[in-house]
Amino acid sequence: MMRAGQVRTDIVLLGGGHAHVHVLKAFAMKPEAGVRLTLVTRDLETPYSGMLPGVIAGLYAEREAHIDLLRLSAVTGTRLIHAEAIGIDRGQKRVLLAGRPPIAYDLLSIDVGITPALAHIEGAAEHGIAVKPIGSFLGKFAALRARCRMPDGPRRIAVIGGGAGGVELILSVRSHLLADARVEGRETAFSFALVTDGEILATHDPKVRDSFRRALAHRGIELHERQPVQAVMPGAILLKDEQTVKADAVLVTTGAAAPPWFRSTGLALDPDGFLAVGPSLQTLNDPDVFAAGDCATLVETPREKAGVFAVRAGPPLARNLRRLVRSEPLGPWRPQRRHLALISTGERYAVASRGAFKTEGAWVWRWKDWIDRRWMRMYQDTNAMLARMPKPRPAPDAEEQMRCGGCAAKIGPLPLSQALSKLPPPIVDGVLVGLETPDDAAILQPPTSGYLVQTVDFFRAFVDDPFVFGEIAANHALNDVFAMGGVPRHALATAVIPIGPAAKVEEALFQLLSGVRACLDREHVALVGGHSSEGMDLSLGLSVTGEVASDHILRKGGLGVGDALILTRPLGTGILFAAAMRGLAAAASVDDALAEMRRSNRQAAEILRGHGATAMTDVSGFGLIGHLGEMLTASGAEAELDLSSVPVYAGALAKARDGVASTLLAENLAQLPLLRGEIDTATKAVLFDPQTSGGLLAGIPAEAAGECVAALRSARHAHVAIIGRIGKLGVGKAGASVRVGGTFSTSGV
Ligand SMILES: Cc1cc2nc3c(=O)[nH]c(=O)nc-3n(C[C@H](O)[C@H](O)[C@H](O)COP(=O)(O)OP(=O)(O)OC[C@H]3O[C@@H](n4cnc5c(N)ncnc54)[C@H](O)[C@@H]3O)c2cc1C
Repeated sequence: MMRAGQVRTDIVLLGGGHAHVHVLKAFAMKPEAGVRLTLVTRDLETPYSGMLPGVIAGLYAEREAHIDLLRLSAVTGTRLIHAEAIGIDRGQKRVLLAGRPPIAYDLLSIDVGITPALAHIEGAAEHGIAVKPIGSFLGKFAALRARCRMPDGPRRIAVIGGGAGGVELILSVRSHLLADARVEGRETAFSFALVTDGEILATHDPKVRDSFRRALAHRGIELHERQPVQAVMPGAILLKDEQTVKADAVLVTTGAAAPPWFRSTGLALDPDGFLAVGPSLQTLNDPDVFAAGDCATLVETPREKAGVFAVRAGPPLARNLRRLVRSEPLGPWRPQRRHLALISTGERYAVASRGAFKTEGAWVWRWKDWIDRRWMRMYQDTNAMLARMPKPRPAPDAEEQMRCGGCAAKIGPLPLSQALSKLPPPIVDGVLVGLETPDDAAILQPPTSGYLVQTVDFFRAFVDDPFVFGEIAANHALNDVFAMGGVPRHALATAVIPIGPAAKVEEALFQLLSGVRACLDREHVALVGGHSSEGMDLSLGLSVTGEVASDHILRKGGLGVGDALILTRPLGTGILFAAAMRGLAAAASVDDALAEMRRSNRQAAEILRGHGATAMTDVSGFGLIGHLGEMLTASGAEAELDLSSVPVYAGALAKARDGVASTLLAENLAQLPLLRGEIDTATKAVLFDPQTSGGLLAGIPAEAAGECVAALRSARHAHVAIIGRIGKLGVGKAGASVRVGGTFSTSGV
């Protein structure tokens, strides 16, 4: 997570491939002063190629063969940016990202693998299934299995490509499809075929080829060697000699290309468009850009594109990045010409091949399994990693400790104006003086009718990515206005940026404000000014001004007897991000929560009000019970909650059971006397968990509640639920209470 301190060199790692996971770990084990690592990745879980055939065969669960990059980043202190790279602006030293502003680098390393390219076989793109890159194949294979379950689903399965990947694939696919059919009591009348233009396993010894020919024949898999493919057609593969191989599903392992955006980078490429690198892994024409894995070609010692070489590139890549930071001479990497390949037969049996050496057996599979699991443990066992990491982290340097306070802690005029100048033109509705003509203060037009609504929020970053933090913090700040029935119009931002060189401060401010603007622009709210200061931790506050019509005002008080209590979003952000900070949260849970937290509550507030909301609030720092308690106190009411209807983010309850909690929980529990009913510690932790960008909680007259929930669901508030009702009124402030029954059911969230 975010650490204060001076960042002097930003190393950006593009792609969470096999080489880069090693770099993260190497720098965590031996931190380099002043160096910050940022991992930019399109996928939060990256597959390990060695275990993939085992996943396809059903011998491993997907989770066993994937590295959770969110957890790895958290424990290694790496800044994670979940985004897809679409280009590089080498002049500005920035990586261009899809759907968000570019990010700056001092040194860049690229390990993004390959992209599918089926154009080399006519009809393959329309009628075939691309197997590479491996990351996206598992989803396609799951879809194929589902289709095979249908009575009229595919029965004739073929693979094009006779390399180790293709051979293992047909064997593994066969194993899994037959096992599915057996388990479900279906007929197993499948047929399988492997088509390749040369011999199978061309780079291996003839003994290995013969072994696999026998293995294929033994399993009834048709083998078509020396049969170049002309086209893939619906229901068949057309060979060059005009013969056909009948096939309802065709998996193509042969086509793989470099990402097309490499061409616009101006980096040296090989004839196939892959990044051309020298022995130091630096690209040939830019020493600040490195590349490794399938996306790179070592021009002096070219090797096949295989996970084994991507793995082996990790240590020399980490060493050379470190040496470049230290201005030391870089060392060459000359990968072995031959490597031991352990190729499985789709069951717990494998063949070992290295040059003329070949052996096989169930024991070879166990050996492979041991090697693969040991490698995975290095990146999955975060506790072991933490235990081996040096502690404590370096203290702030002398200059940092002696920075001035007061107005002298303001961010200098140059980084501030540079960061602001890179933002899109500001929204100017109702703004007389704002950021487009900055002055001492903003001057705004008051609403022509109704009232002003004002609110302020401020907190420290809970994610490392300043853009995402800015977007969520802005969303969070707007919630108070929505909860009052208002419409936000203008905002002022207070930003605290970790101390560092001017260029790093400017970049952090730019990313943060870009996130703020991404949210505010969507909501048509003008950012009219603010204040920025340096400090230890990235923090952001927003003061939002809105307007509200007098007949739209919604307060915390006003609940009626029988009102349904509607909550629009799950609970558990405090727990999940406390877990994420310690490397304990699963990437998928955190990603789902972030997606929800980035969404606006505007439409939900309108729907709730339109269905006669009697009172409304947003669930934030005090947790569900803290905020519901405020509503009950203001209304003099008692509520009954049905825990089985309360939505909770996936993983949050499990983490609460493991004892993970937000640091604010202990203070929130001061409201415990509000509760009536027996609940366990984990349930309490969820009910009092502080929420960032939480849902709206409203009282809706019972007769309108069903329709209101349906309207919210059709507005894509998938987790909305009636979580309870108001039982009694007139109990006075002291009598406010919440009776809880049932237990959480987290399914479906
Ligand atoms: C079925 C099959 C079986 C295989 N079995 C083996 C085997 O047993 N042994 C072996 O050595 N090799 C095997 N391979 C080959 C192996 O999978 C690849 O060589 C290996 O995955 C390459 O690793 P990499 O690090 O270059 O890239 P990848 O493993 O593909 O990692 C690339 C990463 O970059 C991310 N990324 C991609 N594009 C972007 C972007 N634009 N922006 C941000 N992030 C991005 C991806 O999300 C991914 O995390 C197999 C391949 C297949 C298809």
